[in-house]
Amino acid sequence: MPDAVVIGGGPAGLSAALTLRARGKTVTVVSAGETGSHLYKAERVENYPGLPGVSGKDLLSAMTNHALAQGAELLHGRATSAMPMGKGFGVAVGSDYLDAGCLILTVGVSMGKPYPGETEFLGRGVSYCATCDGMMYRSKHVAVIGLCNAAAEEAAFLRSIGCQVEYFDKARAKQYEIRGSQTVTELIADGVSYPVQGVFLLRDGVAPDALLPGLALEGGAIRVDGNMAASIPGVFAAGDCTGTPYQVAKAVGEGNIAALSAVKYLDTKEN
Ligand SMILES: Cc1cc2nc3c(=O)[nH]c(=O)nc-3n(C[C@H](O)[C@H](O)[C@H](O)COP(=O)(O)OP(=O)(O)OC[C@H]3O[C@@H](n4cnc5c(N)ncnc54)[C@H](O)[C@@H]3O)c2cc1C
Repeated sequence: MPDAVVIGGGPAGLSAALTLRARGKTVTVVSAGETGSHLYKAERVENYPGLPGVSGKDLLSAMTNHALAQGAELLHGRATSAMPMGKGFGVAVGSDYLDAGCLILTVGVSMGKPYPGETEFLGRGVSYCATCDGMMYRSKHVAVIGLCNAAAEEAAFLRSIGCQVEYFDKARAKQYEIRGSQTVTELIADGVSYPVQGVFLLRDGVAPDALLPGLALEGGAIRVDGNMAASIPGVFAAGDCTGTPYQVAKAVGEGNIAALSAVKYLDTKEN
């Protein structure tokens, strides 16, 4: 079990991983893929000290290689849930499961507002992970709202286990509402009703409080103190997910502070 699991492989997460390694801690960075990082989308970054005009893609790649060279482990996948377990945390990543001594959330900015009914029916018909929850929907009629690259593959998996899948991507519909009573019974997509028993919402990211239930937010951002500690002991956060300004330098700085605080937390816990 690594000392820390960092969720998110952008500048905040990679900076945290580097600092953890510098302090002799083991760390696994869970990353949904470099294209999910906002930095990847920046054509030119003019305000990162020492590297004027660097492309976001090159800067991200240099940061990733640096963290890997220092011994950080990288696990490709989407973390779909995290929870306190015994003296540490458990993190589900697709069909993988990780244990960790502490958690650092560096998930970037959330992918917009949840759809109506999404939060209400989470765990009662709404799922963020076909691999994790698919078996519960065997032989049932489900909808997949595919908003990330892995979505088509996840839909194929659901079909392979006998689900009747209604697949939606950005070209097929834009507005969704999930309805039901005790559990989901219906998806409304661009005004058309589809009777379904499950809705798989597949995005690159998962809202932080859906990822880790009970996590306190403030204005949609993860609430942190000056040490980048979140509201749950042993959980730290850094980067865009803690709020504005959305800047690489802020993400890197907060990642460093979060990691140093995590080291202190781990060392105190051990003694
Ligand atoms: C077009 C554009 C241009 C920009 N230009 C500049 C600039 O010139 N200068 C500047 O300072 N800033 C710029 N920014 C902002 C900068 O890119 C961000 O502030 C920075 O990338 C934030 O880093 P982060 O690590 O917090 O988040 P991100 O870089 O967004 O990384 C978050 C990572 O977490 C991953 N993730 C999320 N949820 C999960 C999950 N559940 N499981 C696994 N992985 C997950 C995402 O896929 C992503 O890879 C720009 C942003 C954009 C979009």
